[in-house]
Amino acid sequence: MGDIELNVSFPLDEEGFFRREWPFCRKEFKILLTKEELGNLAQAGLDSFMIESKENTDSDESEEGKPEYFCPYCGQHAPGDRWWTQEQLAYISIFAKNIMANLINEHLIRPLERNFGKRSSGPISVSFKGQEMEQQEPWISPEANDMDTFDLPCCQRKIKIEEPKISLVRCFFCGFPHKRQY
Ligand SMILES: [Zn+2]
Ligand SMILES: [Zn+2]
Repeated sequence: MGDIELNVSFPLDEEGFFRREWPFCRKEFKILLTKEELGNLAQAGLDSFMIESKENTDSDESEEGKPEYFCPYCGQHAPGDRWWTQEQLAYISIFAKNIMANLINEHLIRPLERNFGKRSSGPISVSFKGQEMEQQEPWISPEANDMDTFDLPCCQRKIKIEEPKISLVRCFFCGFPHKRQY
């Protein structure tokens, strides 16, 4: 479906940080990503909603090669597509629903209307007025300027964490444990 142009843009805080959440310890943090990384992430998020049936068949293969990332608080690790906040997932699902609505309108409802609309010359006149699926306006809260910045010299990255009293911060990118000084 190359004709669908889609831009899922996520709110970032003033310094460009992007919110993440690890579902197991339910803690949030923020990472600084390049535009390209953010774009790839948005695409992966959308794909996870669009190709659900495909995922069952070859999930084992695709899981293996994926780089893993680490929760800064508890150190558990998982592939990059597991770190969505609930709000981000809800937001992406609206984009996915809009794509489906678009496809159904374009390939099902409108062709039916076109075909049936013309058949009025026979003995029986048939008319079809399809109900087009509506598009929803995606909405997500603006990103607050909260949390403290923490340097990750191991990967030359920065992260923002929400617990001011945590003494060990793991690098999201490589898992290296950093002592935190006050
Ligand atoms: Zn954790
Ligand atoms: Zn690192």
